[in-house]
Amino acid sequence: MAKKQFKAESKRLLDLMINSIYTNKEIFLRELISNASDALDKRHFLSLTDKEHAAQFVPEISIKADKEQRTLTVSDTGVGMNKEELEDNLGTIARSGSAKFMEENKDSKDLDIIGQFGVGFYSAFMVAKKITVNSLRLGETQGYLWTSEGADGYTVTESDKDSVGTTVTLYLREDTEDVKYSEYLDSFRIKTLVRKYSDYVRYPIHMDMEKSRLKEGTENEYETVTENETLNSMIPLWKRNKKDISKEDYNGFYASKFYDHTEPMKVLHYSVEGNLSYTALLYIPGEPPFDYYSPDYKGSLQLYSKGVLIMEDAKNILPDYFKFVRGIVDSDDISLNISREMLQEDAQLKAIAQSVTKKVKNALAEMLTKDREQYETFFKNFGLTLKYGIYNDYGIHKKDLEDLILFESSKDGKYVTLKEYTERMKEGQKEIYYAAGESKEKIEVLPQLEKVRSKGYEVLYFTDRVDEFMIRMMNDYQDHTFKSISQGDLDLDTEEEKKEKEELKKTNEPMLNAMKDALAGKVSDVRISTHLTDYPVCLTADEGISFEMEKTLRNVPNGGMGLKAAKILEVNPNHPLFETLKKIYEKDPSKLGKYAGLLYSQALLIEGFPIEDAVEYSRLVCEMMVDAAKE
Ligand code: ADP
Repeated sequence: MAKKQFKAESKRLLDLMINSIYTNKEIFLRELISNASDALDKRHFLSLTDKEHAAQFVPEISIKADKEQRTLTVSDTGVGMNKEELEDNLGTIARSGSAKFMEENKDSKDLDIIGQFGVGFYSAFMVAKKITVNSLRLGETQGYLWTSEGADGYTVTESDKDSVGTTVTLYLREDTEDVKYSEYLDSFRIKTLVRKYSDYVRYPIHMDMEKSRLKEGTENEYETVTENETLNSMIPLWKRNKKDISKEDYNGFYASKFYDHTEPMKVLHYSVEGNLSYTALLYIPGEPPFDYYSPDYKGSLQLYSKGVLIMEDAKNILPDYFKFVRGIVDSDDISLNISREMLQEDAQLKAIAQSVTKKVKNALAEMLTKDREQYETFFKNFGLTLKYGIYNDYGIHKKDLEDLILFESSKDGKYVTLKEYTERMKEGQKEIYYAAGESKEKIEVLPQLEKVRSKGYEVLYFTDRVDEFMIRMMNDYQDHTFKSISQGDLDLDTEEEKKEKEELKKTNEPMLNAMKDALAGKVSDVRISTHLTDYPVCLTADEGISFEMEKTLRNVPNGGMGLKAAKILEVNPNHPLFETLKKIYEKDPSKLGKYAGLLYSQALLIEGFPIEDAVEYSRLVCEMMVDAAKE
């Protein structure tokens, strides 16, 4: 029988498993049991519409350890796999990218990578040198045996399996100094593992357990008997009474269900009765899953009906902006044999979705008022998702989310909500001021911030790229519009200051115009600024595209079609350099262009833009140094 090769990606992952130094090898059992449980789910689902089939179906998982053969067997009465399925499912890894990720992280022992990925079946190669999978697919008569000794490939031959389901047999590796693989032949060890990882599997997991009991007719003579035991407790946690559930139970369930061993930050467990009835057990994770911000991230809200899993990533229940929520929603009102497409239109489900969304929203709002510290941690982890929620769909979710977002601000560096900001606005202030930049540190040195702050206004820091796009969708918050402090027309001046500025403008008009001409095509205007104290010049944006938006657009594939912010060069009349400019203009107006060019480049640098012509810039600086030495 010719060996078939694993697909490239699978082979790499397999290699990693075989040579794994991963200490948490025991999770292989959980992976095999969940595969068995999934197969039982599938068969259960099919049996719902087929009475005859239902009558023959006894859902069960059984585990056997054979100390002599050194084998551990996990059998199920699930749907089974036919020849093609054995080849397709066990020869390929469904989730692309997992091998790559594993490889990159192979040295980190503490990360539960295997668990997070649920690379599942292959993990058995951590403890087995050979694996066979004997399976008979529901509705078929010929069984097949898949055999593999690891990376060199696998074979599939006909088998005489005559009952529907799958039997996975692991031929355990020899014990070494460091690892005692034979521990997985010990029924008590297996029982502990099932309790730890698979206690809520809905199907009974049976195993023969050796027990010692008093020999009949004797007083103190014991004998060892074997008794078939159900190892798991089965009742889903969410069906149990809240007051009988401990924090450990909730966390344990979360860890085993979602392969996340960081403690969830919040648990919501409730039931709704009446017209609409459902039970929900929802978690807000303690940390974002490693792939949370990747496009491949799938939500993990599962939909059950009468305790049966109908949908793994029930996207129809929670909107994208709450995609961090994990958990289960179980409702008896939803018809079981309903297709994915029909489900989207299901009125009951829509009502449930609305109700669940509202619960999550209220829970977050409550956390914000009652436990600010916790909320801020939550926001650091998942706030971006809320912001995108406002931005997406043309802002229609604005009202639901606007009070849940936080910004750092110039006041005390602490997080502030829009509500708090507007409540403590300076008298007469109408607009919400913000400054956009890469980081808080970069914003705090922005020349424009000096002035606004000195006038006693609070400025929100927009450090996420989505922020400015988001407020454009929002338009306003409680009738207060948003205003960037980098926008040129910020009107903060007193009447006196305005007059002063007007005068300066008048007296320096020819020089300012000459600078503007020298910078034609680069700036739309050159103005006297009263925003500045320490800096000689700065750039502000004219109406339209802001600086941060320009930077973001530069990075999109087509370069944002070259869209740029219209820039205004503002000159500080109180800076010594202003006098120098005036002198140069009087002495030799032809030189002014060079100075204007240099100042413009400096202003670009301060704003975090690249200089347009670095060679020219360096040439000018050199020239000026040489000139300075001459004088
Ligand atoms: P995952 O379970 O995450 O999809 P696995 O590598 O564990 O990945 O399994 C690959 C596939 O093999 C499963 O999706 C399933 O289709 C099939 N499979 C594995 N074990 C069984 C089983 N006991 N019964 C039926 N199908 C199985």
